[in-house]
Amino acid sequence: ILSHSLQAKMSRPVQARRLEGIDKNIWVEFVKLAATYSKVNLGQGFPDFPAPDFLTEAFTRALSGGNHMLHQYTHAFGHPPLVKVLAQFFEKLLGQDLDPMTNVMVTVGAYHALFCCFQALVDEGDEVIIIEPFFDCYESMVKMAGGTPVFVPLRLNPPKDGKLMSSADWQLDPAELASKFSERTKIIVLNSPNNPLGKVFSRGELGLIAELCVKHDVLCISDEVYEWLVYDGKQHIRIASLQGMWDRTVTIRSAGKTFSATGWKVGWVVGPDRLLQHLRTVHQNSVYHCATIAQEAIAQGFQRELMLYGKPESYFVQLPKELQQKRDWLVQSLDAVGMKPIIPEGTYFLVADISQFKSDVPDVPNSDEPYDYRFAKWMVKNKGLAAIPLSAFYSEAHKNNYTNFIRFCFAKEEATLRAANDILQKWKEEKTS
Ligand code: PMP
Repeated sequence: ILSHSLQAKMSRPVQARRLEGIDKNIWVEFVKLAATYSKVNLGQGFPDFPAPDFLTEAFTRALSGGNHMLHQYTHAFGHPPLVKVLAQFFEKLLGQDLDPMTNVMVTVGAYHALFCCFQALVDEGDEVIIIEPFFDCYESMVKMAGGTPVFVPLRLNPPKDGKLMSSADWQLDPAELASKFSERTKIIVLNSPNNPLGKVFSRGELGLIAELCVKHDVLCISDEVYEWLVYDGKQHIRIASLQGMWDRTVTIRSAGKTFSATGWKVGWVVGPDRLLQHLRTVHQNSVYHCATIAQEAIAQGFQRELMLYGKPESYFVQLPKELQQKRDWLVQSLDAVGMKPIIPEGTYFLVADISQFKSDVPDVPNSDEPYDYRFAKWMVKNKGLAAIPLSAFYSEAHKNNYTNFIRFCFAKEEATLRAANDILQKWKEEKTS
């Protein structure tokens, strides 16, 4: 009788309702597939080249130098040397005075910054506009906070002259965007440069978003983790610097992308105190402190970049130059085999059209899995090349319109990109022989 009653108690639901429908995660599945099968991993977004020496040396100095206090907690919302230099640095870029203690907050990567934003600013029933395709966690985080995501897609206007597509060919339809704003809209999420397309939003597009935000009194969460990775002389424009936007924008950044050290998981938010004070409430009730030594090293990295700003030796000048070259190699490799690349204006990523490859991938009977998922799984298992299906970056309702693309990461060593090229060339030869 006792064991029966114990068992009966075990049948109560254990999962919190807010987790319903968000348990699946593309990264868990595809990172595992890549670990098992890939010879060349162009899936998840991280560099396989080293972080710059000045940064790793700063870390080593912090670790073994004389200041033993760097092994202890630091200021909860950000290590003082880091928030100070971030305030100095972004003050210049935004043309806005920044107080290190109230306008900057350090987080466990940009991911945690996003979590703080959604938890702090979204209420039950609030609508949050998300531009598709989007970094997938935005949707889950809005839902976890009790909000309702409202999606608006970038529409593809393909070039007519037979040229390769560019991420700039994916554009917002102004009327469609305006139609998504309602009395319930609390926030719009902007990600420029955009993961996965590599789109860098133009001044006109940002102006339109800003105008709608002001008109409807809506906040903006601007995810700018790829702000330094912009190519072909394009300019990254910070929406917080547009008229009327500072007071309603929180901008998210990541040392991982800034200094090619994604494993350090240092991110931060810049914004007005009236918004950041609520983010601090989530921060103090989730992680409260971030790792001190990593913050100290990032602070030194920014000291260096502040001195070298705009000079050829600056890492923020060198890294995009190197990545642009890598992008161009991958564009060539993909174009040569008929996997039509969409040339990205920014980020680590390149999306390619795989509609010419349908006959390579066997149909799976009775499967409702989209073609891009089947293709990416088949490719890693049979060719050893890992990439991510694009439809993973769309909402359930729109997924099926975007199943002919996959995303590659080109922030890789030359040797890695060469190995990817070899796989693609061999594949092409097999197809034509
Ligand atoms: N935002 C975007 C758009 C990203 O691509 C990523 C990382 N892939 C993040 C946020 C998270 O960054 P972090 O690693 O600093 O948490």
